[in-house]
Amino acid sequence: MGTRPLLNRRLEGMGSTIFAEMSALAVATGSINLGQGFPDTDGPREIAEAAARAVLDGRGNQYPPGPGIPELRAAVTEHQQRWYGLSYDPDREVLITAGATEAIAAALLALLEPGDEVIALEPFYDSYAACIAMAGAARVPLTLRAPGFRPDLDELRTLITPRTRLLLINTPHNPTGTVLTPDELRGIAELACEHDLLVITDEVYEHLVFAGAHRPLAALPGMRERTVSISSAGKTFSFTGWKVGWVTGTPELVAAVRTAKQYLTFVSAGPFQYAVADALRLPDGYFDTLRADHLRKRDLLAEGLAAAGFDVYRPDGTYFITTDITPLGETDGLEFCRKLPERCGVVAIPNVVFYDNTEAGRSQVRWAFCKRDDVLAEAVARLGRL
Ligand code: PMP
Ligand code: GLN
Repeated sequence: MGTRPLLNRRLEGMGSTIFAEMSALAVATGSINLGQGFPDTDGPREIAEAAARAVLDGRGNQYPPGPGIPELRAAVTEHQQRWYGLSYDPDREVLITAGATEAIAAALLALLEPGDEVIALEPFYDSYAACIAMAGAARVPLTLRAPGFRPDLDELRTLITPRTRLLLINTPHNPTGTVLTPDELRGIAELACEHDLLVITDEVYEHLVFAGAHRPLAALPGMRERTVSISSAGKTFSFTGWKVGWVTGTPELVAAVRTAKQYLTFVSAGPFQYAVADALRLPDGYFDTLRADHLRKRDLLAEGLAAAGFDVYRPDGTYFITTDITPLGETDGLEFCRKLPERCGVVAIPNVVFYDNTEAGRSQVRWAFCKRDDVLAEAVARLGRL
């Protein structure tokens, strides 16, 4: 096989995701896993039963339609209307995907040419970097800097070049918890329109906003026609293993994304689509409780981390808290996270892996608080030993 590396150059250095590495470390050491973002309690029983019923009733056990089952596409459009007043045609403007992850991959593979530039909020979710690379495009970071983690719109303007094809936005933002303000969204939208850029917006934490309200970028003037909006059931309904996501956008954008999607997975898990259609139609009380529960958990963990000596950046959204380890006399988040399990039986994620400008994130560590209160309390007690 010669000396040529097996893994192609585009994926060089992307061997294993930080989430896989840290979850394996948690299992191997029996640690509390506040690393990878998944809840330790499943979503609503009635939704799990809906999935089981669909399997037993033979709904979705054979290939569902490529764009997704009509029931779920309708439920997605009802959801966009109910929460944001956005109307979409369920037949032409919705695509069901294998989680948001596939939606991101399909959108980037469909919309980018090699050599295009993508401006993304840094720190960025790991699959953005990998998918931009697989598309042969280049990522250009707009760095959110501690302590505020706000986007600098003047800087954004300077990053736009004739090669810029799209903006990749994520609000609420993983890992910082930043929720873009109406002014920030307006500024981004104006630049997108002025430079005729496409926008992909990842809004998987749309129902985990603690201050203000989630505002979809597609709702801003001039944005509907240029925005691919992405969300998924994983975070909102606490079934991250089901991998049901969706895309909304104009018929042209959705057709482009569908073209790539059909050769990635063709279709996504059938029976779960029926259950997610029911989930999207849950009453407001479900969504209110989800948010209130996570707000309580956020505060529980934030206070514990502060008491343990970390600098805590309290997030406005998502179920992650970013901290700085400098007050503990530490500087290297990656090294800190690799040793943390043996030091005190807790696993966390080093934010530095989400940065190109590694200096900006070297001492940051992310903690997931989508865990039972007693688990968070135990984690805090262990961290107190540091
Ligand atoms: N985008 C962001 C910002 C995420 O944090 C995640 C992880 N849930 C995803 C996308 C992937 O979502 P899914 O599990 O639906 O593929
Ligand atoms: N989105 C989750 C996180 O940020 C992880 C998902 C994954 O492992 N790819 O922790």
